[in-house]
Amino acid sequence: METLEKAGLAVNYNKVPSTKPEYLPRKVFIWDETLRDGEQTPGVALTIDEKIEIAKMLDEVGTAIVAVGFPAVSEAEKNAVAAIAKEGLSNAKVAAPARAVIEDIDACIEADVDEVPIFIATSDFRLKYQLRMTREQVLERLTECVEHGREHGLIVDYIAEDSTRSNMDFLCEAYRTAIDAGADKICVADTVGFVRPEVMRHIMREVKSRLWNEQKYRVPIAVHCHDDFGLATANTLTAIEEGATYPQVCVNAYGERAGNAAFEEVVMALEELYGIDTGVKTEKLYRLSGLVEKNFVIPLPLHKSISGDNAFTHSSGIHSHGQLTHSMTYEPISPMRVGRTREFHLGKFVGRHFVEYLLKMGGIKASPEQAREITDRVKITHEDKKKLHSDMAFEKIKSELRSLRTGVSEREFWEIVFDVI
Ligand code: MN
Repeated sequence: METLEKAGLAVNYNKVPSTKPEYLPRKVFIWDETLRDGEQTPGVALTIDEKIEIAKMLDEVGTAIVAVGFPAVSEAEKNAVAAIAKEGLSNAKVAAPARAVIEDIDACIEADVDEVPIFIATSDFRLKYQLRMTREQVLERLTECVEHGREHGLIVDYIAEDSTRSNMDFLCEAYRTAIDAGADKICVADTVGFVRPEVMRHIMREVKSRLWNEQKYRVPIAVHCHDDFGLATANTLTAIEEGATYPQVCVNAYGERAGNAAFEEVVMALEELYGIDTGVKTEKLYRLSGLVEKNFVIPLPLHKSISGDNAFTHSSGIHSHGQLTHSMTYEPISPMRVGRTREFHLGKFVGRHFVEYLLKMGGIKASPEQAREITDRVKITHEDKKKLHSDMAFEKIKSELRSLRTGVSEREFWEIVFDVI
């Protein structure tokens, strides 16, 4: 892009000063949740070795904080977290979350992690129906738990679960209470992926105006977004435009329900579209995606941005030919930026020019008639032969994929019930 821009042949509106968000930070710190929220993807269960492998790769890539598991869930989970903490990561902080319950925090202390994000909800209906606590009780519990973590030398953060459906006065009171008790960071959590980007902006501005005007409460803000409406990445970026510096992400957008903001999307958008330093070695992103995909046993959609098989594959003749004349023609960034190579997939959209180019590259001499015949045959292969086969194979693969999920489906659950009763 640089050269085309310099030559006056392309305009990059991302760099036009009036489009630059006012509160955009210069640097952000990637907070990965792949091994925590990510592992809550229905049907996923990782072995300790797989967790260690992923944690090490996240560290190598340049992640600032790696949430490695939820020690209070089970003895096995606590041991896995402890094993990763014991391995030690070279740059990343090892974090493990806790409910605002002393036993949860003790489990994190026993697992010997660096950092504990403590979460308790702030929305009134969760207080009433889920926690059965008053606002006062929530604040008391929060103080007690944050202080308990701090007394044991941990970095403590406060995640206000369901922030985006909470009363703003109480939300900010909870943040202040956590900071008073020693919290290092606070997190705005769109737990059910409920807001649109402009609403995230509104919430961030409210939180900032109520907290950051006092030096004492000027702590870094993390953001946690879900993809229930496909807005997780957009909402995360909007929060960063308003000054959030710790985006919580999951590799390949895995996570509860529709998943979380994707690590690779947030990082690449920040680096390429905003010009922000994320500290991530982007050329390792494709390897990271592949490792997590393999260990999660959840195939990425072929068209997944950045890391899907098709993300840098060209198929139409016009596009393929365009790519040969200048790589920027149909690509926003070089595939090498994320550790990939450009590919072509020939089909009915193939053009004769492109076939001739490939023949030339392969050192093959062909007459115009032969080139035409090759082009025609490529098109026919695409249209006729494969379609019937792929319809049948697709159904089979889909059902195979469902069967790969670990755990128990609702149907299997009732089968167990009727077997026992
Ligand atoms: Mn979540």
